[in-house]
Amino acid sequence: LINEMKLEFMSKSNNEAFGRIVAAAFASQLDPTVEELADIKTAVSEAVTNAIIHGYENNSGIVRMVCRLYNDGIEIVISDEGKGIEDVELARQPLYTSKPDMERSGMGFTVMESFMDRVDIVSEPDKGTTVTLFK
Ligand code: ATP
Ligand code: MG
Repeated sequence: LINEMKLEFMSKSNNEAFGRIVAAAFASQLDPTVEELADIKTAVSEAVTNAIIHGYENNSGIVRMVCRLYNDGIEIVISDEGKGIEDVELARQPLYTSKPDMERSGMGFTVMESFMDRVDIVSEPDKGTTVTLFK
């Protein structure tokens, strides 16, 4: 482990940009390419958006982000204590969304998987969701 940071913020849509910018600023210590940094921003943005709109829906709650830098890459953990996911394998499917009426395309996890090297999802209904991104 080279470096680590932890961040907490309220589940407000204004904080989607905040979370992704902080993750990118921290990741820049590893001298990533512009493309790698853009990939990290996109994936973090999807995970934070999910915590805000699905995890907490209309309620307010706390979103947590932990970033760890290693010699061979970065690990970013985004978690909420919201409603959780009943079926994680279903949620990962491209085009699956539980909110088709709200302009959601069901591509968030697919985007995270394509822009990062690995995406782990741990979730329990009514307890919350933790998404771990590796690159
Ligand atoms: P898009 O990301 O394309 O706008 P989406 O958010 O519905 O649409 P995904 O990001 O792939 O699609 O997520 C798939 C589904 O997984 C969501 O519709 C939601 O049901 C569930 N989900 C994802 N993240 C969370 C979370 N943090 N808490 C609760 N449910 C979640
Ligand atoms: Mg999404």
